[in-house]
This record gives sequence, structure tokens and C-alpha cells, in this order.
Amino acid sequence: MIRKIKNTSNNIMSVITRFAPSPTGYLHVGGARTALFSYLFARANNGQFILRVEDTDRERSTDESVQAIFEGMKWLGMENDGDVYFQTKRFPQYKQKVQQLLDQDKAYYCTCSKERLDEMREAQMKAGGKPRYDGKCRDLGLEDSDDAVVRFRNPQEGEVTFDDYVRGVITTANKEMDDLIIARPDGTPTYNFTVVIDDVDMKISHVIRGDDHINNTPRQINIYKALGAELPKFAHLPMILGDDGARLSKRHGAVSVMEYADNGYLPEAVLNYLVRLGWSHEDKELFTKDEMIALFDLKQVNKAPSAFNTSKLNWINQQYIQQADSQRLSELLSARLGVLQVSVPENIDLIKVVNMFKERAITINDMADSALFLFDDINEYAATSVKKVFKQSAIVPLETLIKKMTDITNWDNADLHGMIEDTVSELEVGFGKVGQPLRVALTGQSSGPANDEIMKVLGQDKSIQRTNKALEAVKEKVANQRN
Ligand code: GLU
Repeated sequence: MIRKIKNTSNNIMSVITRFAPSPTGYLHVGGARTALFSYLFARANNGQFILRVEDTDRERSTDESVQAIFEGMKWLGMENDGDVYFQTKRFPQYKQKVQQLLDQDKAYYCTCSKERLDEMREAQMKAGGKPRYDGKCRDLGLEDSDDAVVRFRNPQEGEVTFDDYVRGVITTANKEMDDLIIARPDGTPTYNFTVVIDDVDMKISHVIRGDDHINNTPRQINIYKALGAELPKFAHLPMILGDDGARLSKRHGAVSVMEYADNGYLPEAVLNYLVRLGWSHEDKELFTKDEMIALFDLKQVNKAPSAFNTSKLNWINQQYIQQADSQRLSELLSARLGVLQVSVPENIDLIKVVNMFKERAITINDMADSALFLFDDINEYAATSVKKVFKQSAIVPLETLIKKMTDITNWDNADLHGMIEDTVSELEVGFGKVGQPLRVALTGQSSGPANDEIMKVLGQDKSIQRTNKALEAVKEKVANQRN
């Protein structure tokens, strides 16, 4: 079904968008945001979303990078329609179109040497102008030769105008543009040419991409015109800055999408974070994918660059962890513990562990770190806790607790909080006098989840064992102090 596009005037057309990464690295945050906006626009309009690998730069493109891009797209849940296109499989199509333009005299062979072009460029820059090809071979009617490139015959008069969804009307005079190379001497085509051929062949209705391509657009529009092809609409997305205002890069932390997976972020949280980089809807912060699809509108994309903000991403991730299914989180936690080479004792149920940390954890990795004390015996107590809590006054509370713990017959159903409270009232002390030594006994330090929750997860034997061990440590310290 083709639905009316909610983002354009009244024309009914089928929407086809694409994400066209060059596989020269991982899928980074900027690329993923571009992909997401293309994806959402297609889904919002019952259109298609195409994935096209722009791998014509054979020196810089790698298979690992192709796989990394696929992996990132899959992790974020941005499924493409149809098969993935690879530009390297489309050389015959490009070749044919180059020939067509040559035949129509809309392109020509040029044999200017590198030296000549370099000299010319230098002179132009010295004179304060922009470097551009001077058109020496334009009207020479040269034939093909080993060192000949093919140049596009850019119109010399008039101007190119397009109405960008984000940036508005942009007009460029043709005399600002030179005759760009569309095929190298070995016949391989160049980016500005292949992108147009592909977008035409794949019937792309909306070209949504980073604004680093905005200066290429008028050149590409002239190629569309030369081919007699219908123009797509354009949306150039503002760049993403780091929190220091510089363009987002590696030094701002993780920029590869899969690094967020490794760091314990949930894909739906990263997706939610990405959609807010340059787009907003009222003051809503959290969007499911369906909500994004229902609400996304290219017209609401900000013109200004958006700034990456790790604390916001952390907040979003925390919200999603709180809402996530505990079974799923326990699987993620288990995988993380595997990476940390932590083995989980058989009696410990990771779902209970998850439930204990779900409210507070910012990432799965954070949760794993907080939970580490559960899996290994405690061999060291935090110095500040020892100083504050391991005192004579802790001995009776710990002994009383051990006795009560030992007497419990059904640990899973026992009221462990009640047990602590009973100890407090029996001994007629403040809650801290019982709770604090117990916490240090169970966790090795003074902070952590509630004692009764920890004991539930640890089980009866481990809880008694740890409390006993702490009791011994307290006694030893007290004895040493006396001597
Ligand atoms: N392959 C280009 C890039 O990765 C994108 C081209 C386009 O979207 O038009 O920057």
C-alpha cells in the first residue's frame, strides 16, 4: 500500500530511501543516526529502505568493515528491504552510463597531466581563488587513451537550486562548479557519479545523508539532469558534535555503535538516543521504535548541529534497563560475566541478581561490576568499613544473626528483613549496629543493595559462611587491638 507522504506537500509517491555507507571502518554514531533517519522516513511512509555499500574505493574498503556495518544495523534493528547492493558489483551499469554521456557529448575525455593540474591549482589558490579545472580538454574532442579520464560537462551558465528538507532553498551558480571527473583512467567511476546512477536506478525518492555531502548535491543534480532523470528530494542532516563542541570523534569516547553494545548499552536505548540527535517531538524523551515511526518527521530535524551527551545516553539506558524483561537482562549479564571470566556459582539465580540491580544500573556492565561480590568469596574488606564497623560492638549482632540464620528452615520463603529487625529489637540497639556489620560481611564494603535481598540471592550457606568469616575478622581485629 502506498500512503500519502505526511512530510511533503500533497503529492502521492512511493518513498524509497537508502543508507549508503562506505565500508572503511565500523558503523559510527553519525552513520547510524543517518541510517536511522532514512529508515524511519521510509517506515513512516510505508516505503522501502535500501542498504547500499559504497565500496568502489577498493584500497580503503574492507570486508571486516562491511560485516561491522551489517552487525551494527542488525543490533540496532534497522532492517533493510531487499538485497544489499554493492557498488563494486555494478561496474557494467556505471560504464554504460559513462558511455551514454560521452555519446551525447555530455562528458568528454581529458588527458591533462597531474603536474599540469597541480600547477594550475596552486596558481589559482595563490590568486585567492578556488581550485577548479579550467576546461582545457573540454572542446578538444579527445579520444580514449590509457591516461584519459572522463569529465562531466557541467553547464557553464545558469544555476542549480534545490529545496533541502533541513537547510531550505540552496542555490549554486554553475560557474562555481567545474567539470568533475566521473571515470578514472582505469575506467573506475567516482563517487559523485556512482551515487547518482544508483539513486536513479534504485528509484530513491529521498536522499537523506550527512551535510558533509551538501556541496556535492548541485553537482549531482546536474548529472541527474544530464541523464534526463527525475530528481529526488534531499535532506542533509547536521553533524554531531562532541560535548566540547568539536566534531564527534574517537577522542570523545565510543563512536562505534558496537562499542556501545560491548559497554553494556541496550540497542533500543542507543536507538532512542540516536533519534534525539537532531530531532525532537514536543518534550518527549523516550520513544519505542513504533513511536519513532509514527512521529518522525523530516521537517522537525534541527538545522543546528546536535551535541553528543553521554549523561543523557546513560539516563536513557537506565530507563530501558528498568523496563526490560529480567530474563533478557540476565542473559546479557551472563554474557558480560563471561567476558569478565567470572563463573557464577550454581545456586545463584541471575534473574534475582538482575532484579536486585535493575533499578539502579546504568549499563549491563555496570550491573555486572556491582554484582561481582556475589560470585566470589570475600577475601578483603574495604579499609574504611573495617575501621568504622569491625569493632567489639559488632560481635554480638553478628553472632545473633548467625544463630538466627542457621535456625531458618525454609530460606527462600523466610522473612530475612524481619530476622534483622528481630535482632535489632532483641539487642536493643540502633538498626545500623546490626545492619552495617552484616552488610560488610556480605559485600566486603559498606554500600550495596539491601541485606535481605543479598542474602536471598546468596542462599543460606553462603550467607552464614560470609557472616562467620566477618565475625572471625572482627574478633581478630579486636584481639590485636587489645595486645
Ligand atoms: N558513501 C557516502 C558516505 O559514506 C554516502 C553517500 C551518500 O549518502 O550520498 O559518506
